[in-house]
Amino acid sequence: MKKVLSRVRSLQLGGPWRWLLPLLLVCLFLAVLLWLPWQAREMESNERQEQLIADTLWVEQAVRFELTRNEDGFTTLVGDLTAASLEPAALKARMDQMRKNSHELLRLSWLDADGHALLMSGPDTPGALSEPSRNAAELARKTGRARYSEPYVASESLMDYHLPVLRQGKLKGMLVATYSLKVLLDEAVPWWFAQDNAISLLTNDDTVVAQRAAAGPGRGVYTHKRELDLPGANLRLATDSVKGAPRLLPNLLVGSVIALALGLLASLVALWRHIARRLAAEGALRQQMAFRTAMENSMVTGLRARDLEGRVTYVNPAFCQLVGLPPEELVGQAPPMPYWAPEAMAEYQQRLAGVLAGNVTPQFETIFQRSDGERIPVLIFEAPLVDSEGRQTGWMGSILDISERKRAEELNRQQQEKLQAGSRLATMGEIASMLAHELNQPLAAISSYTTGAANLIARAAADGTPVDPALLLPALEKAGVQAQRAGQIIRSVHQFVKKREPERQQLAIAQVIDGIGTLIELQARQYFVAIRTAIAPGLPEVSADRVMLEQVLLNLTRNAIEAMQQVAPERRVLLIEATLVDGQVCVAVIDRGHGISDEVAGRLFSPFFSTKAEGMGMGLSICRTAVEFHGGTLTCRANPVGGTIFSFSLPGHIKNNGDKHVAHRGRRGGHP
Ligand code: ADP
Repeated sequence: MKKVLSRVRSLQLGGPWRWLLPLLLVCLFLAVLLWLPWQAREMESNERQEQLIADTLWVEQAVRFELTRNEDGFTTLVGDLTAASLEPAALKARMDQMRKNSHELLRLSWLDADGHALLMSGPDTPGALSEPSRNAAELARKTGRARYSEPYVASESLMDYHLPVLRQGKLKGMLVATYSLKVLLDEAVPWWFAQDNAISLLTNDDTVVAQRAAAGPGRGVYTHKRELDLPGANLRLATDSVKGAPRLLPNLLVGSVIALALGLLASLVALWRHIARRLAAEGALRQQMAFRTAMENSMVTGLRARDLEGRVTYVNPAFCQLVGLPPEELVGQAPPMPYWAPEAMAEYQQRLAGVLAGNVTPQFETIFQRSDGERIPVLIFEAPLVDSEGRQTGWMGSILDISERKRAEELNRQQQEKLQAGSRLATMGEIASMLAHELNQPLAAISSYTTGAANLIARAAADGTPVDPALLLPALEKAGVQAQRAGQIIRSVHQFVKKREPERQQLAIAQVIDGIGTLIELQARQYFVAIRTAIAPGLPEVSADRVMLEQVLLNLTRNAIEAMQQVAPERRVLLIEATLVDGQVCVAVIDRGHGISDEVAGRLFSPFFSTKAEGMGMGLSICRTAVEFHGGTLTCRANPVGGTIFSFSLPGHIKNNGDKHVAHRGRRGGHP
């Protein structure tokens, strides 16, 4: 019980702190759960961005490669042109061929040193060159190096490439390639890239000059810009992915995280509630337990619970104190119990058999043996132990130490006895003084009559005269009358003393023993003597005076109990046996006491013989007379296992004779 209490207390002690750690852990868990998808999203977007940059680089490389390839073609063409002056037709054919190979080349023009068109492949120019192209041509001419113009818008966004043709350091002419920026994007950018991104070419001030957006406009989430680094032209390549930021909600991970978090919260709340309920219940239970423990501990009655097999399942402190054993040595113990006294073992076993068979004696007295060997008389109340479902799970016993009560009873009995003995003695004293008083007169009268008669005779003898019978006779008659009176007095006292006539009746010896059982027990308890009876079945009834028979039995059992005062407790067993021997009912009172020495044996039945300080020595004498009155004999012999056996037999039918004599002696003994 203590263990349970401390566990309950430790639960209570946690207080608010009990929740701190799990709460922190749950918060941490939730934070990690929420951070994870965010992190995943970040990573995904980073990855996309990086991918876009890499792809943009790749596209830039492709565009540049296209332009460089064309530049190489132009350089070769110009080389051929200066080395061996090509025929205009051949030149035109080469130029057409180049345009055919590179669709982005809208037009190729061959100009002289003044800028007049000599030859042209592709659609006609709408008049003069645009301003950015002119600037580029100017610079190319000045530097003698090829140059791109800034993009400009004619029918569409265009950009020119001016390649000066020098011969011996002198400008001979200019090859102008006009690029359609739109077609350049279409040609250089692979379709799979265009599928995912909007690609544009921007000027310095972010004006879009060409765009390819096969899959619609970009979302502006993943963008990248790169300088194309063309000599003379500030063109930038810008990519804008059509993909938006990774969406959070449809993300399976986020969904499951939210579901998990909600589930966790719900179960946490449920757990919280459950624990709160449990704590409340435990608090109530703890109070109940404390109350019950206090109750059990303060009880003076011993409590003992046993299961249906008789095993002890619970004992309270009072019980432990009673038997002098700790609860550990009692709980779980199966019979025989450590507190069973050896001399009463048969009685316990018999009662246990009853318990196991399902019927208990609701209330009985017995003795327990304390751990130090001391015997304690106890009163036990036993009742079935029923659980909350109405099932019997064992037996509950409450045990009262009745030593004090027994002592009081014994004291009372002794006092009663003393009182009776005293009153008997007083009565005898009264009778004696009455006798003395009553007899005094007739005896004095007889004495004086006989003295008178003697004097008459003496005088007559001295005178020598004959005695006058007339004088002598009345004196003698009167003396006779007085003697009769004295006899009458004695008879009347006899009548007074003889109060009760013996009454014979048909008696079953078992009933007689039963009837005085409690009286014998009262004596026996004083010395912790166990009583056993063994009555043979089918005994015939005897014709006897119940009171006398009871007196005999009480005397014999009392002597037997007193003889066992000094022997070891386990030897203190008194056995009353009734058997049938030769048609007679033979009753034996068997003790295991100190026995009878030869010296005592010779005087055993003599009146007033006693070896006890307070003994009257009349008991056995009265018993023998009473037994003989019933036609039986009272004998005594040594018990082979130590002690004495007193036995008497009673014939089945006894004639009523000699009542007065026996009754007189019975009364005179005055033993209970
Ligand atoms: P009392 O009991 O008053 O002494 P009893 O006549 O009953 O008178 O007994 C006479 C004596 O016989 C006793 O004092 C005792 O010494 C002896 N005696 C009687 N019964 C027993 C017995 N069962 N065992 C030993 N001694 C006995």
